[in-house]
Amino acid sequence: MAASVQAAAGGSNMLRFMKLIGQLKRVPRTGWVYRNVKKPESVSDHMYRMAMMSLTITDPTVDKDRCIKLALVHDMAECIVGDIAPSDNISKTEKHKREEEAMRQLTDLLPEGLKQEIYGMWEEYETQSSPESRLVKQFDLLEMILQAHEYEELEGTPGRLQEFFDSTDGRFHHPDVLQLISSLNEERGSHMTKTDDTKNCGNSQEASVVSSRPLESSHTSS
Ligand code: ZN
Repeated sequence: MAASVQAAAGGSNMLRFMKLIGQLKRVPRTGWVYRNVKKPESVSDHMYRMAMMSLTITDPTVDKDRCIKLALVHDMAECIVGDIAPSDNISKTEKHKREEEAMRQLTDLLPEGLKQEIYGMWEEYETQSSPESRLVKQFDLLEMILQAHEYEELEGTPGRLQEFFDSTDGRFHHPDVLQLISSLNEERGSHMTKTDDTKNCGNSQEASVVSSRPLESSHTSS
């Protein structure tokens, strides 16, 4: 009897965990919200493509499974604390404290082994303490600028989100990442040249107003 009661409690904790994680589907990425992107992606959208970037890595020296797990976990705390931006006037220390507390709350719902694994993954990413966590950080930035590029394409506003690209200068090192960046820059370069007329008559003013604001996405601040 006692065992089945315990099992039921474990089951409802897992359901509670899944529901909390589900909230990530409804947490919009702050950087896009502040720039008035229509229907901005959610935090889980962002983590999904980072997991795909991890899955498709070709470097045999990298522990791919570890990268996938890091990608899936790195922004998990945002289901409770939201996507905190520098403009929210919350210090880095305070942000880390809130996210740490949220991670404890979340992983407390899990059985011991899983709890340690998931909390450990989050901590590894936060402290950037492994080659995999440093690669996944590059995926984090790559995913952001790829998304910025797609929003510019969807909106027909080339260059409007340029500051996101600028914020990543000098931060990419892995050959696989550099290759994707080079393809992206090539496509973006030709796209921007092609639509130069649109840019000059339509959005240059808007672009300059927007880019005078500080970067607000937490994903670009470190
Ligand atoms: Zn992220």
